[in-house]
Amino acid sequence: MNSRIQQLNTRLSNQIAAGEVVERPASVVKELLENCIDANCGKIDIELEAGGTKLIRIRDDGSGIHDEDLTLALSRHATSKIAESQDLEAITTLGFRGEALASIASVSRLSLTSNRSDIAEDGWRITLSGTTMQAELEPSPHPRGTTVEVRDLFFNTPARRKFLRAERTELQRIEDVVRKVSLSHPFVGINIQHNGKPLRQYLAAKSDTEIARRVAAVFGQSFLDNAIYLQDGTPESAGNGDGERLMHLHGWIGLPTYSRSQADQQYFYVNGRIIRDKLISHAIKQAYSDVLFHGRQPVFALFFSLPPHHVDVNVHPTKSEVRFRESRQVHDFLFRAIFHALAEVRPESGDDLQGFAEQAAQGAQLAQAGQTGRLEQNVPSPLQSSMTFRTAASLPGRGYPGEQTAIYGSLIAESSDTAVSAQETVPPLGYALAQLHGIYILAQNANGLVIVDMHAAHER
Ligand code: ADP
Ligand code: MG
Repeated sequence: MNSRIQQLNTRLSNQIAAGEVVERPASVVKELLENCIDANCGKIDIELEAGGTKLIRIRDDGSGIHDEDLTLALSRHATSKIAESQDLEAITTLGFRGEALASIASVSRLSLTSNRSDIAEDGWRITLSGTTMQAELEPSPHPRGTTVEVRDLFFNTPARRKFLRAERTELQRIEDVVRKVSLSHPFVGINIQHNGKPLRQYLAAKSDTEIARRVAAVFGQSFLDNAIYLQDGTPESAGNGDGERLMHLHGWIGLPTYSRSQADQQYFYVNGRIIRDKLISHAIKQAYSDVLFHGRQPVFALFFSLPPHHVDVNVHPTKSEVRFRESRQVHDFLFRAIFHALAEVRPESGDDLQGFAEQAAQGAQLAQAGQTGRLEQNVPSPLQSSMTFRTAASLPGRGYPGEQTAIYGSLIAESSDTAVSAQETVPPLGYALAQLHGIYILAQNANGLVIVDMHAAHER
């Protein structure tokens, strides 16, 4: 080893930084989209070739970059988003590290074209070349806004290139990134093209209905039909200087009956940024714990906001994690908001007898189906296990005071001589009223109240 120390060239040092933030085409798209959003754009066009490995071109109609700043925009540690160390304490933009463009430029053939004026001829374009990443500037007509073109990603870093997956897989990851941005920024229209063909279009939302439509575009309409819209807390705009009371949560949470076996439809945003966080997962899990069957995962799209100085976003290179200053308060606020939203779910018209009767009839049907499964065979059949889940998942618990769910034989094993005939409407163990301590079910049948130990019953 050469014991002398030397300064690394610009490209190489930027490549080292790129190692953390530019893992694959989707990470490039994420960074570029964040820049478009930070530039207050109304519309984003994304063109891709070969899953983004050959080309990623992203154009926005945002504020644009001053032509004298174009070189800086591509240098590391250069940003327009923060200026002093105290700014780091209260980040209001998605970006702030000033290294995305420099990193991407070091592992691809990148060009940046931008214009701050409404006269297309005022546009300028910059490209970088060589190990010193020498800048070449030229006039280039461009409407107001910015286009970043990234060609041949990882052409000079074979180790990274080797880890790229099939075109389809890379494309799916990109679509996932776009989906996440599209949910948190519904007022921005987004178009995606792949290999010259239109792939997806998110229309800019102009009303609450259109925002809901975007949620449906991401999750499917069935989610909206089975979700609760919740809104809790005080938005910062209603500010009174008291940080604790300026937390605000809104969004959609799936009904317990709309759960999944995987945690793959869970979107949580903190001040517009999608993040993964143990504290948050825990709060949500706990809020659902009474109403969700073990092993099932809720579906949600939740947008949480709090004053920027209450959350540190400078903890992860891809900015996908945060640290809360008052984590206990955040946890309790989220738990309470979701818990209460779940608790408020009642049959659509509580005093409407027709609705109530329909519910009871539904319960009876389920009971019959479950009963049939049990009578046919005592070993779990696919039908039986799916019915078991449906019952358990829709158990009223604390959250569903008005709802009645039938408990039937497949979940609560009873001796064969108590088998219910198909004509009977009330199953022997009746309808569940509540779940107690997460273990017992309080049910009501023709004779009175029944308390069932769920685990013991399940084991039997
Ligand atoms: P950061 O976003 O952390 O500041 P980047 O390397 O992503 O760092 O971008 C550097 C700078 O280039 C930004 O601070 C911003 O001023 C400018 N910039 C990048 N992309 C855009 C864009 N799409 N529109 C306007 N300005 C942009
Ligand atoms: Mg950025």
